[in-house]
Amino acid sequence: MVEPKADSKSTAVMGTYNRFPLSLVKGRGCWVWDDQNRRHLDAVAGIATCTLGHSDRVLRRALTRQLRTLQHVSNLYQIPEQEQLAQWLVANSCADSVFFCNSGAEANEAAIKLARKHGHQRRGIDRPVIITASASFHGRTLAAVSATGQPRYHQGFEPMVEGFEFFPYNDGDAFEQLLMQLEHNGPKVAAVLIEPLQGEGGVNPGDPAVMQRIRKLCSERDILLIFDEVQVGMGRTGTLWGYQQLGVTPDALTLAKGLGGGHVIGALLVSEHADVFEPGDHASTFGGNPFACRAGLTVASELQRRDLLKNVQMRGQQLQDGLNHLVERYPDHLAGCRGWGLLQGLVLRDTCGYSAADVVKAALEEQLLLVPAGAAVVRMVPPLVIGPREIQSLLTRLDRALQHLM
Ligand SMILES: *Cc1c(COP(=O)(O)O)cnc(C)c1O
Repeated sequence: MVEPKADSKSTAVMGTYNRFPLSLVKGRGCWVWDDQNRRHLDAVAGIATCTLGHSDRVLRRALTRQLRTLQHVSNLYQIPEQEQLAQWLVANSCADSVFFCNSGAEANEAAIKLARKHGHQRRGIDRPVIITASASFHGRTLAAVSATGQPRYHQGFEPMVEGFEFFPYNDGDAFEQLLMQLEHNGPKVAAVLIEPLQGEGGVNPGDPAVMQRIRKLCSERDILLIFDEVQVGMGRTGTLWGYQQLGVTPDALTLAKGLGGGHVIGALLVSEHADVFEPGDHASTFGGNPFACRAGLTVASELQRRDLLKNVQMRGQQLQDGLNHLVERYPDHLAGCRGWGLLQGLVLRDTCGYSAADVVKAALEEQLLLVPAGAAVVRMVPPLVIGPREIQSLLTRLDRALQHLM
Protein backbone atom coordinates (compact mmCIF):
# COMPACT_ATOMS: atom_id res chain seq x y z
CA MET A 1 0.00 0.00 0.00
CA VAL A 2 1.16 3.50 -0.86
CA GLU A 3 0.49 5.91 2.03
CA PRO A 4 -1.35 9.01 0.85
CA LYS A 5 0.74 12.16 1.16
CA ALA A 6 -0.29 14.31 4.11
CA ASP A 7 -0.94 17.31 1.89
CA SER A 8 -2.71 15.40 -0.90
CA LYS A 9 -5.95 16.70 -2.38
CA SER A 10 -9.02 14.48 -2.32
CA THR A 11 -8.22 13.33 -5.86
CA ALA A 12 -4.99 12.24 -7.49
CA VAL A 13 -6.57 12.47 -10.92
CA MET A 14 -5.59 15.56 -12.89
CA GLY A 15 -8.27 18.23 -12.87
CA THR A 16 -9.07 18.28 -16.58
CA TYR A 17 -12.76 17.43 -16.13
CA ASN A 18 -15.74 19.05 -14.46
CA ARG A 19 -17.25 15.94 -12.92
CA PHE A 20 -20.72 15.39 -11.47
CA PRO A 21 -20.74 14.17 -7.85
CA LEU A 22 -21.76 10.70 -8.98
CA SER A 23 -19.63 7.58 -8.78
CA LEU A 24 -20.79 4.79 -11.07
CA VAL A 25 -19.91 1.25 -10.09
CA LYS A 26 -22.11 -1.14 -12.06
CA GLY A 27 -24.04 -1.32 -15.33
CA ARG A 28 -26.52 -3.59 -17.05
CA GLY A 29 -28.26 -2.80 -20.34
CA CYS A 30 -29.44 0.83 -20.30
CA TRP A 31 -29.04 1.15 -16.54
CA VAL A 32 -26.12 2.08 -14.27
CA TRP A 33 -25.81 1.98 -10.47
CA ASP A 34 -23.94 4.47 -8.28
CA ASP A 35 -22.00 3.73 -5.09
CA GLN A 36 -25.19 4.39 -3.05
CA ASN A 37 -26.85 1.58 -5.05
CA ARG A 38 -29.18 4.05 -6.78
CA ARG A 39 -30.19 3.04 -10.31
CA HIS A 40 -29.95 5.56 -13.18
CA LEU A 41 -31.31 5.39 -16.73
CA ASP A 42 -28.30 5.97 -18.97
CA ALA A 43 -29.01 8.20 -21.98
CA VAL A 44 -25.30 9.05 -22.23
CA ALA A 45 -23.87 5.55 -22.79
CA GLY A 46 -20.28 6.72 -22.33
CA ILE A 47 -21.14 9.48 -24.86
CA ALA A 48 -22.60 7.44 -27.71
CA THR A 49 -20.18 4.63 -27.06
CA CYS A 50 -21.88 1.69 -25.29
CA THR A 51 -23.72 0.53 -28.41
CA LEU A 52 -24.98 -2.74 -26.87
CA GLY A 53 -25.56 -1.22 -23.42
CA HIS A 54 -23.61 -2.16 -20.32
CA SER A 55 -22.26 -5.59 -19.54
CA ASP A 56 -23.91 -7.15 -22.60
CA ARG A 57 -23.89 -10.93 -22.32
CA VAL A 58 -22.70 -11.65 -25.88
CA LEU A 59 -19.96 -8.99 -25.78
CA ARG A 60 -18.87 -10.17 -22.32
CA ARG A 61 -18.53 -13.75 -23.51
CA ALA A 62 -16.72 -12.86 -26.73
CA LEU A 63 -14.22 -10.65 -24.89
CA THR A 64 -13.67 -13.16 -22.09
CA ARG A 65 -12.89 -15.79 -24.71
CA GLN A 66 -10.56 -13.36 -26.50
CA LEU A 67 -8.70 -12.59 -23.24
CA ARG A 68 -8.15 -16.29 -22.75
CA THR A 69 -6.85 -16.66 -26.33
CA LEU A 70 -4.77 -13.60 -27.22
CA GLN A 71 -5.03 -10.01 -26.07
CA HIS A 72 -2.33 -7.99 -27.77
CA VAL A 73 0.40 -8.47 -30.35
CA SER A 74 2.25 -5.98 -32.51
CA ASN A 75 1.29 -4.77 -35.96
CA LEU A 76 4.64 -6.32 -36.95
CA TYR A 77 2.49 -9.43 -37.53
CA GLN A 78 -0.73 -10.45 -39.26
CA ILE A 79 -3.71 -10.08 -36.89
CA PRO A 80 -6.70 -12.21 -37.99
CA GLU A 81 -9.26 -10.33 -35.86
CA GLN A 82 -8.07 -7.03 -37.37
CA GLU A 83 -8.35 -8.43 -40.89
CA GLN A 84 -11.88 -9.73 -40.13
CA LEU A 85 -13.11 -6.42 -38.74
CA ALA A 86 -11.57 -4.53 -41.68
CA GLN A 87 -13.31 -6.97 -44.06
CA TRP A 88 -16.65 -6.34 -42.34
CA LEU A 89 -16.23 -2.55 -42.46
CA VAL A 90 -15.23 -2.63 -46.12
CA ALA A 91 -18.08 -4.99 -47.07
CA ASN A 92 -20.61 -2.73 -45.32
CA SER A 93 -19.41 0.76 -46.31
CA CYS A 94 -18.18 2.82 -49.26
CA ALA A 95 -14.54 2.24 -48.21
CA ASP A 96 -11.93 -0.23 -49.47
CA SER A 97 -9.39 -0.34 -46.64
CA VAL A 98 -9.07 0.47 -42.94
CA PHE A 99 -6.40 1.80 -40.56
CA PHE A 100 -7.05 1.05 -36.87
CA CYS A 101 -6.15 3.32 -33.95
CA ASN A 102 -7.51 3.97 -30.46
CA SER A 103 -9.75 7.04 -30.42
CA GLY A 104 -11.68 9.55 -32.47
CA ALA A 105 -8.95 12.18 -32.26
CA GLU A 106 -6.41 9.63 -33.45
CA ALA A 107 -8.62 8.58 -36.34
CA ASN A 108 -8.86 12.24 -37.39
CA GLU A 109 -5.09 12.67 -37.02
CA ALA A 110 -4.68 9.78 -39.47
CA ALA A 111 -7.22 11.41 -41.81
CA ILE A 112 -5.36 14.74 -41.63
CA LYS A 113 -2.04 13.05 -42.52
CA LEU A 114 -3.76 11.19 -45.38
CA ALA A 115 -5.26 14.46 -46.64
CA ARG A 116 -1.93 16.30 -46.55
CA LYS A 117 -0.14 13.51 -48.41
CA HIS A 118 -2.95 13.48 -50.99
CA GLY A 119 -2.52 17.26 -51.34
CA HIS A 120 1.23 17.00 -51.91
CA GLN A 121 1.21 13.92 -54.08
CA ARG A 122 -1.95 14.18 -56.15
CA ARG A 123 -2.57 17.93 -56.31
CA GLY A 124 1.05 19.15 -56.13
CA ILE A 125 0.35 21.51 -53.21
CA ASP A 126 3.26 22.78 -51.12
CA ARG A 127 1.27 23.78 -48.04
CA PRO A 128 -2.07 21.94 -48.23
CA VAL A 129 -5.13 23.38 -46.51
CA ILE A 130 -8.01 21.37 -45.00
CA ILE A 131 -11.41 23.06 -44.83
CA THR A 132 -13.53 22.33 -41.74
CA ALA A 133 -16.73 23.82 -40.30
CA SER A 134 -17.32 26.25 -37.48
CA ALA A 135 -18.93 24.70 -34.36
CA SER A 136 -17.34 21.40 -35.34
CA PHE A 137 -15.65 18.96 -32.98
CA HIS A 138 -12.82 16.69 -34.09
CA GLY A 139 -10.99 15.83 -30.84
CA ARG A 140 -8.42 17.21 -28.40
CA THR A 141 -5.01 16.24 -29.79
CA LEU A 142 -3.17 19.16 -31.35
CA ALA A 143 -4.07 18.72 -35.03
CA ALA A 144 -7.61 17.50 -34.25
CA VAL A 145 -8.26 20.45 -31.94
CA SER A 146 -6.80 22.79 -34.60
CA ALA A 147 -9.35 21.32 -37.02
CA THR A 148 -12.11 21.97 -34.46
CA GLY A 149 -14.01 25.15 -35.32
CA GLN A 150 -14.55 26.33 -31.74
CA PRO A 151 -12.12 28.99 -30.41
CA ARG A 152 -12.77 28.01 -26.78
CA TYR A 153 -10.93 24.73 -27.39
CA HIS A 154 -7.92 26.60 -28.81
CA GLN A 155 -7.48 29.19 -26.05
CA GLY A 156 -4.26 28.75 -24.11
CA PHE A 157 -2.79 26.21 -26.50
CA GLU A 158 -1.69 28.45 -29.36
CA PRO A 159 -0.04 28.26 -31.79
CA MET A 160 -2.53 25.93 -33.44
CA VAL A 161 -1.40 23.53 -36.16
CA GLU A 162 -1.56 25.54 -39.39
CA GLY A 163 -3.44 24.62 -42.54
CA PHE A 164 -7.09 24.71 -41.42
CA GLU A 165 -9.73 27.09 -42.77
CA PHE A 166 -13.29 27.33 -41.48
CA PHE A 167 -16.71 28.00 -43.00
CA PRO A 168 -20.16 28.18 -41.32
CA TYR A 169 -21.70 24.67 -41.18
CA ASN A 170 -24.52 24.09 -43.69
CA ASP A 171 -23.71 27.29 -45.61
CA GLY A 172 -23.05 26.17 -49.18
CA ASP A 173 -22.44 29.69 -50.53
CA ALA A 174 -19.86 30.43 -47.82
CA PHE A 175 -18.16 27.10 -48.56
CA GLU A 176 -17.93 27.77 -52.29
CA GLN A 177 -16.68 31.30 -51.68
CA LEU A 178 -13.92 30.09 -49.32
CA LEU A 179 -12.93 27.31 -51.71
CA MET A 180 -12.71 29.67 -54.70
CA GLN A 181 -10.74 32.19 -52.69
CA LEU A 182 -8.25 29.54 -51.54
CA GLU A 183 -7.91 27.97 -55.00
CA HIS A 184 -7.66 31.33 -56.76
CA ASN A 185 -3.98 31.00 -57.70
CA GLY A 186 -3.94 27.23 -58.20
CA PRO A 187 -4.48 24.16 -56.04
CA LYS A 188 -4.37 24.85 -52.31
CA VAL A 189 -7.03 22.64 -50.70
CA ALA A 190 -6.30 18.97 -49.94
CA ALA A 191 -9.53 17.98 -48.22
CA VAL A 192 -12.75 18.91 -46.49
CA LEU A 193 -13.19 17.33 -43.04
CA ILE A 194 -16.78 17.53 -41.81
CA GLU A 195 -19.32 15.85 -39.53
CA PRO A 196 -22.50 14.56 -41.28
CA LEU A 197 -24.28 15.75 -38.12
CA GLN A 198 -22.49 17.94 -35.60
CA GLY A 199 -22.75 16.15 -32.25
CA GLU A 200 -20.71 18.10 -29.68
CA GLY A 201 -21.49 21.37 -31.51
CA GLY A 202 -25.24 21.16 -30.76
CA VAL A 203 -26.79 18.11 -32.52
CA ASN A 204 -26.93 19.88 -35.89
CA PRO A 205 -27.89 17.59 -38.79
CA GLY A 206 -26.13 18.30 -42.07
CA ASP A 207 -28.23 19.71 -44.93
CA PRO A 208 -28.29 17.11 -47.75
CA ALA A 209 -28.36 19.78 -50.49
CA VAL A 210 -25.34 21.59 -49.04
CA MET A 211 -23.41 18.35 -48.52
CA GLN A 212 -24.18 17.26 -52.10
CA ARG A 213 -22.92 20.62 -53.36
CA ILE A 214 -19.71 20.23 -51.32
CA ARG A 215 -19.33 16.70 -52.72
CA LYS A 216 -19.60 17.99 -56.28
CA LEU A 217 -17.13 20.85 -55.75
CA CYS A 218 -14.62 18.43 -54.17
CA SER A 219 -14.99 15.84 -56.94
CA GLU A 220 -14.37 18.44 -59.65
CA ARG A 221 -10.97 19.24 -58.14
CA ASP A 222 -9.84 15.90 -56.67
CA ILE A 223 -10.23 17.34 -53.17
CA LEU A 224 -10.94 14.61 -50.59
CA LEU A 225 -14.26 14.73 -48.76
CA ILE A 226 -13.67 13.17 -45.36
CA PHE A 227 -16.58 12.56 -42.98
CA ASP A 228 -15.92 12.55 -39.23
CA GLU A 229 -18.36 9.80 -38.24
CA VAL A 230 -16.82 9.28 -34.80
CA GLN A 231 -20.16 10.00 -33.12
CA VAL A 232 -22.72 9.07 -35.81
CA GLY A 233 -21.10 5.95 -37.28
CA MET A 234 -21.99 2.35 -36.43
CA GLY A 235 -25.79 2.62 -36.49
CA ARG A 236 -26.37 5.52 -34.09
CA THR A 237 -28.58 7.40 -36.58
CA GLY A 238 -30.68 4.48 -37.83
CA THR A 239 -28.45 3.85 -40.84
CA LEU A 240 -25.08 2.20 -40.42
CA TRP A 241 -23.27 5.39 -41.51
CA GLY A 242 -24.15 9.07 -41.28
CA TYR A 243 -23.37 9.64 -44.96
CA GLN A 244 -26.38 7.46 -45.85
CA GLN A 245 -28.64 10.07 -44.23
CA LEU A 246 -27.30 12.67 -46.67
CA GLY A 247 -27.10 10.76 -49.94
CA VAL A 248 -23.41 11.67 -50.18
CA THR A 249 -20.48 9.27 -50.48
CA PRO A 250 -17.28 10.50 -48.82
CA ASP A 251 -13.75 9.50 -49.92
CA ALA A 252 -12.84 8.60 -46.35
CA LEU A 253 -14.50 8.45 -42.93
CA THR A 254 -13.38 8.21 -39.34
CA LEU A 255 -14.94 6.08 -36.60
CA ALA A 256 -14.44 5.49 -32.89
CA LYS A 257 -17.16 5.97 -30.27
CA GLY A 258 -19.72 3.25 -31.07
CA LEU A 259 -17.36 0.88 -32.87
CA GLY A 260 -16.10 -1.04 -29.84
CA GLY A 261 -19.27 -0.93 -27.73
CA GLY A 262 -17.33 0.81 -24.93
CA HIS A 263 -13.93 -0.63 -25.75
CA VAL A 264 -11.00 1.36 -27.05
CA ILE A 265 -10.85 1.49 -30.84
CA GLY A 266 -10.79 4.04 -33.65
CA ALA A 267 -10.57 3.66 -37.40
CA LEU A 268 -9.91 5.53 -40.63
CA LEU A 269 -11.76 4.05 -43.61
CA VAL A 270 -10.66 5.07 -47.12
CA SER A 271 -11.73 4.42 -50.68
CA GLU A 272 -9.15 2.89 -52.98
CA HIS A 273 -8.68 6.11 -54.99
CA ALA A 274 -7.93 8.07 -51.78
CA ASP A 275 -5.50 5.59 -50.25
CA VAL A 276 -2.10 7.28 -50.52
CA PHE A 277 -0.55 5.63 -47.45
CA GLU A 278 2.44 3.33 -47.94
CA PRO A 279 4.27 1.13 -45.43
CA GLY A 280 5.93 3.35 -42.83
CA ASP A 281 3.59 6.33 -43.33
CA HIS A 282 1.49 5.78 -40.23
CA ALA A 283 1.38 3.39 -37.27
CA SER A 284 -0.04 2.66 -33.83
CA THR A 285 1.27 0.35 -31.10
CA PHE A 286 -2.15 -0.61 -29.75
CA GLY A 287 -4.24 0.10 -32.84
CA GLY A 288 -6.28 -2.86 -34.06
CA ASN A 289 -5.15 -5.36 -31.46
CA PRO A 290 -7.04 -8.68 -31.14
CA PHE A 291 -9.03 -7.58 -28.07
CA ALA A 292 -10.21 -4.25 -29.53
CA CYS A 293 -11.07 -5.85 -32.86
CA ARG A 294 -12.99 -8.66 -31.16
CA ALA A 295 -15.07 -5.94 -29.49
CA GLY A 296 -15.69 -4.30 -32.89
CA LEU A 297 -16.51 -7.62 -34.55
CA THR A 298 -18.99 -8.50 -31.81
CA VAL A 299 -20.72 -5.11 -32.00
CA ALA A 300 -20.93 -5.51 -35.79
CA SER A 301 -22.41 -9.01 -35.68
CA GLU A 302 -24.86 -8.11 -32.89
CA LEU A 303 -26.05 -5.03 -34.80
CA GLN A 304 -27.05 -7.36 -37.60
CA ARG A 305 -28.24 -10.35 -35.55
CA ARG A 306 -30.54 -8.20 -33.36
CA ASP A 307 -31.65 -5.96 -36.25
CA LEU A 308 -30.59 -2.94 -34.22
CA LEU A 309 -30.87 -0.44 -37.09
CA LYS A 310 -34.60 -1.14 -37.06
CA ASN A 311 -34.66 -0.64 -33.30
CA VAL A 312 -32.80 2.68 -33.62
CA GLN A 313 -35.32 3.85 -36.24
CA MET A 314 -38.35 2.91 -34.11
CA ARG A 315 -37.01 4.03 -30.73
CA GLY A 316 -35.54 7.17 -32.33
CA GLN A 317 -38.98 8.04 -33.70
CA GLN A 318 -40.59 7.36 -30.31
CA LEU A 319 -38.00 9.58 -28.61
CA GLN A 320 -38.43 12.36 -31.17
CA ASP A 321 -42.26 12.21 -30.87
CA GLY A 322 -41.98 12.41 -27.08
CA LEU A 323 -39.57 15.34 -27.25
CA ASN A 324 -41.83 17.17 -29.71
CA HIS A 325 -44.68 16.61 -27.27
CA LEU A 326 -42.60 18.26 -24.51
CA VAL A 327 -41.83 21.16 -26.86
CA GLU A 328 -45.58 21.62 -27.45
CA ARG A 329 -46.26 21.55 -23.71
CA TYR A 330 -43.49 24.00 -22.76
CA PRO A 331 -43.25 26.37 -25.76
CA ASP A 332 -41.85 29.22 -23.63
CA HIS A 333 -38.93 27.08 -22.51
CA LEU A 334 -38.19 24.71 -25.38
CA ALA A 335 -37.38 25.79 -28.93
CA GLY A 336 -37.54 22.35 -30.54
CA CYS A 337 -35.77 19.06 -30.96
CA ARG A 338 -33.50 17.77 -33.70
CA GLY A 339 -31.37 14.79 -34.56
CA TRP A 340 -31.29 11.43 -36.31
CA GLY A 341 -32.21 8.07 -34.77
CA LEU A 342 -30.87 7.71 -31.24
CA LEU A 343 -28.85 10.92 -31.38
CA GLN A 344 -31.37 13.57 -30.35
CA GLY A 345 -31.03 17.10 -29.00
CA LEU A 346 -33.61 19.11 -27.08
CA VAL A 347 -33.06 22.79 -27.83
CA LEU A 348 -33.70 25.31 -25.02
CA ARG A 349 -34.93 28.83 -25.64
CA ASP A 350 -32.43 31.65 -24.92
CA THR A 351 -35.06 33.16 -22.65
CA CYS A 352 -35.85 30.06 -20.56
CA GLY A 353 -33.45 31.13 -17.79
CA TYR A 354 -31.47 27.91 -17.48
CA SER A 355 -28.79 26.11 -19.48
CA ALA A 356 -28.43 22.60 -20.86
CA ALA A 357 -26.05 21.89 -17.96
CA ASP A 358 -28.83 22.90 -15.53
CA VAL A 359 -31.20 20.41 -17.20
CA VAL A 360 -28.55 17.70 -16.98
CA LYS A 361 -28.16 18.43 -13.23
CA ALA A 362 -31.92 18.41 -12.65
CA ALA A 363 -32.16 15.11 -14.54
CA LEU A 364 -29.56 13.61 -12.20
CA GLU A 365 -32.08 14.10 -9.39
CA GLU A 366 -34.53 12.05 -11.45
CA GLN A 367 -31.88 9.38 -11.90
CA LEU A 368 -31.56 10.07 -15.61
CA LEU A 369 -28.14 10.61 -17.22
CA LEU A 370 -27.97 13.21 -20.02
CA VAL A 371 -25.14 15.21 -21.62
CA PRO A 372 -25.12 18.80 -22.91
CA ALA A 373 -24.12 19.61 -26.51
CA GLY A 374 -23.16 23.26 -26.17
CA ALA A 375 -24.91 25.73 -23.87
CA ALA A 376 -28.49 25.31 -25.05
CA VAL A 377 -28.88 21.73 -26.30
CA VAL A 378 -29.54 18.66 -24.13
CA ARG A 379 -28.18 15.58 -25.90
CA MET A 380 -29.61 12.05 -25.66
CA VAL A 381 -27.50 9.13 -26.94
CA PRO A 382 -28.76 5.96 -25.18
CA PRO A 383 -27.53 2.44 -26.03
CA LEU A 384 -28.90 1.20 -29.36
CA VAL A 385 -30.60 -1.69 -27.55
CA ILE A 386 -32.97 0.60 -25.62
CA GLY A 387 -36.59 -0.60 -25.44
CA PRO A 388 -39.95 1.23 -25.68
CA ARG A 389 -40.59 1.26 -21.91
CA GLU A 390 -37.12 2.68 -21.29
CA ILE A 391 -37.72 5.48 -23.82
CA GLN A 392 -41.01 6.22 -22.02
CA SER A 393 -39.17 6.29 -18.68
CA LEU A 394 -36.55 8.64 -20.17
CA LEU A 395 -39.29 11.04 -21.30
CA THR A 396 -41.11 10.92 -17.94
CA ARG A 397 -37.90 11.61 -16.03
CA LEU A 398 -36.93 14.43 -18.42
CA ASP A 399 -40.38 15.99 -18.03
CA ARG A 400 -40.07 15.94 -14.23
CA ALA A 401 -36.52 17.40 -14.41
CA LEU A 402 -37.79 20.27 -16.61
CA GLN A 403 -40.66 20.95 -14.20
CA HIS A 404 -38.14 21.36 -11.35
CA LEU A 405 -36.47 24.18 -13.32
CA MET A 406 -39.68 25.98 -14.33
C1 LIG B 1 -15.94 12.42 -29.61
C2 LIG B 1 -15.59 12.92 -30.96
C3 LIG B 1 -14.25 13.00 -31.38
C4 LIG B 1 -13.10 12.71 -30.47
O1 LIG B 1 -13.04 11.38 -30.08
P1 LIG B 1 -12.07 10.94 -28.88
O2 LIG B 1 -12.20 9.45 -28.85
O3 LIG B 1 -12.54 11.62 -27.64
O4 LIG B 1 -10.69 11.37 -29.26
C5 LIG B 1 -14.00 13.41 -32.67
N1 LIG B 1 -15.01 13.71 -33.52
C6 LIG B 1 -16.30 13.64 -33.15
C7 LIG B 1 -17.37 13.97 -34.15
C8 LIG B 1 -16.63 13.25 -31.86
O5 LIG B 1 -17.92 13.19 -31.48
